[in-house]
Amino acid sequence: MFHFPKMARTATIQVLSKFGSKDRLRLLREISGAYQTRSQQATWDPDTNILCPWCGCEQDTRWHRLGVCTAFAEHREPYNHVIDYLVERQSPWIELPVLFDNPDDEIITHLHCAMPSPEISEALVDNIRRTFDNQQIVAFTDGSCQHPSLINSRYAAYSIVIDLCTNEEQRQEEVNHFLSHGCIPKTLQLLGAARLQGAQNILRAELSPILEAFRLFDNILVYTDSAASISAIARVANAMSVLEFADHSEFDILLHFFRWIFRIARLKKLRRILILKPLKMQVSVTDNWAINWLMMKLLRLEIYISQQSFCLNKELVNALQTFLF
Ligand SMILES: [Zn+2]
Repeated sequence: MFHFPKMARTATIQVLSKFGSKDRLRLLREISGAYQTRSQQATWDPDTNILCPWCGCEQDTRWHRLGVCTAFAEHREPYNHVIDYLVERQSPWIELPVLFDNPDDEIITHLHCAMPSPEISEALVDNIRRTFDNQQIVAFTDGSCQHPSLINSRYAAYSIVIDLCTNEEQRQEEVNHFLSHGCIPKTLQLLGAARLQGAQNILRAELSPILEAFRLFDNILVYTDSAASISAIARVANAMSVLEFADHSEFDILLHFFRWIFRIARLKKLRRILILKPLKMQVSVTDNWAINWLMMKLLRLEIYISQQSFCLNKELVNALQTFLF
């Protein structure tokens, strides 16, 4: 047992939960060593006969029962391809039916932490600042996480779309044009899209683009569909000290919000209200459905592209391992 890789506890529990209660109990007994082979029994009871109790031909081991014992040949028949696979991989599952840590986990975690920030054109940002001057800028953010329930293999991305309409009339015109012609308004521009940095989960994927948008522009209205993000940021905004949200899973991102809100509040007191008020409004934003729908379509496309661009293959992992360690 001691030479086995580290057990992946959460992943094992997730897989066990897929089985019915009867099978799950059997598997748990198997994992906990309740079904001992004669060979195992002999390690603590020297009087044990180590021959298989069913065929009496060979030493009773887990491999004997699974792959060799003639008494189980008929039961084994439909699963021969699985047994061949386990043998070929020299899988520890022959001895213990649990999930083990993927040897590539460390490098994958490292890669997630090293994900670059979105490439945002400085020229575009300057242009927007100049065009809008003191006017409020409108941006839409969204995050997405693939395979969210699989904590070891999920991955996330996000994007920010900026609305370049400078007034409501222009916005309405774009919406009407979209409704009659189906063209996505050119005033909705992608500001940035990126793979998520750090732990891969949906809340982080929703919070990260909001932080990016807040960093770029002072007077900004950010639309998000994430109620959890709004409540997390509201918690930070109302906190007097970092200790008040230190238990939050995305503490590192919230810390940026805290520092940023504190700085703005100190230097430009009105900003704090201006910036937080729009966030609180997000939940009830349904007035301009066409723009919202368009924005979500555009965001999803960008997120899809940024997620697809990350393809981790064995060769890449090997190359990176050589390079990094
Ligand atoms: Zn046997």
